[in-house]
Amino acid sequence: MTLANGRQYLAIPGPSVMPDAVLQAMHRASPNIYEGELHDLTASLLPDLRAVARTQHYVAIYIGNGHAAWEAALTNTLSRGDTVLVLATGRFCIGWGEMAAKLGVNVQTIDYGNQSDIDLDQVAAALAADKGHAIKAVMAVHVDTSTSVRNDIAGLRKVLDAANHPAFLMADCIASLGCDRFEMDAWGVDVMVSACQKGLMTPPGVSFVFFNDRARAAQGDLVSHYWDWGPRAAPAGYWQHFDGTAPTHHLFGLRAALDILHGEGIEAVWARHAKLAQAIWAAFEVWGQEGPMALNIADPAKRSCAVTSVGIGPGNGDRLRHWCEHKAGLTLGIGLGRDPEDAWFRIGHMGHVNGHMIMGVLGTIEAGLVALDIPHGRGALDAAAQVIATA
Ligand SMILES: *Cc1c(COP(=O)(O)O)cnc(C)c1O
Repeated sequence: MTLANGRQYLAIPGPSVMPDAVLQAMHRASPNIYEGELHDLTASLLPDLRAVARTQHYVAIYIGNGHAAWEAALTNTLSRGDTVLVLATGRFCIGWGEMAAKLGVNVQTIDYGNQSDIDLDQVAAALAADKGHAIKAVMAVHVDTSTSVRNDIAGLRKVLDAANHPAFLMADCIASLGCDRFEMDAWGVDVMVSACQKGLMTPPGVSFVFFNDRARAAQGDLVSHYWDWGPRAAPAGYWQHFDGTAPTHHLFGLRAALDILHGEGIEAVWARHAKLAQAIWAAFEVWGQEGPMALNIADPAKRSCAVTSVGIGPGNGDRLRHWCEHKAGLTLGIGLGRDPEDAWFRIGHMGHVNGHMIMGVLGTIEAGLVALDIPHGRGALDAAAQVIATA
């Protein structure tokens, strides 16, 4: 038999669970795109997006997924033949670097593998060696969704400043925005990219580039008319926001999502994600006491509060995912970028998630472990409940 019939829970690291208020806001007739409500609503999104990113500076919105924002960030700031330093801690920063290479940018990569965060000393050494300041941008992913590592972005700014190096600091916050604490201006980030389908709880298809005055002055020769962030961030006419037709229903959904975030308060949103993540980690510490399961990132201080990557032994990742999906209606994330992929799985706990959902995920995983005869320590749900109980 199957117990999967009921509300499906998509616990993957994006797209995330959509709140009913977001779905309902989108369920409406096409609006007038020339004037009125849509224009006011779009104007209202910009300060609220800046507040979530903790920046006073600019935001450009693109109709496209996170990869679109990646390309926008690169082309607006870089020129063909420029050099960038890519700090890889998993699949995502490598992908961003590959995109830069294809644009004709010279990519220098420090690869920290799949289980570590960025080593700031190595970055300092690379910057010190760059005496002629050939490096135009340092590219890092705040939370790498493939490994669930969280990097010290504020620390990178300190390293750049200590080296007196003018490179832009660029951060990918696609997984972390609205989940893990991020402070664009206080941390000295010049360019930040994000997208709407993770912590921002809106269907995939809209992405953002936040940038400061220094980045705005860059004028990379790679940028084309469509990707130019200038008119998007300071449009003379409404159509310039999107260089064409607005993504009408996404904007209604995003408005509802930002209302939810601001209603809770961003500090409380971060605290909720942190507490739920601690409950997940507590369960895995116990499961890992017997058998093959282990959290990918050993140091809790370096784990994301939005996504968790787990090693579970060859084949077991796929077996567990299939069991949870077909028997219990819970979809877990694949072991993206891992070798072998089927020895890993990921839990997305970003955005519209709460205590009962996380206890449900953990309880379902426990049932799967029992059903599949995968050895595991006993008492994991107790450990998670202890954490939830202290909220
Ligand atoms: C999801 C994600 C991306 C890719 O976003 P798409 O919308 O799939 O293009 C890039 N970087 C990180 C850190 C992500 O989590």
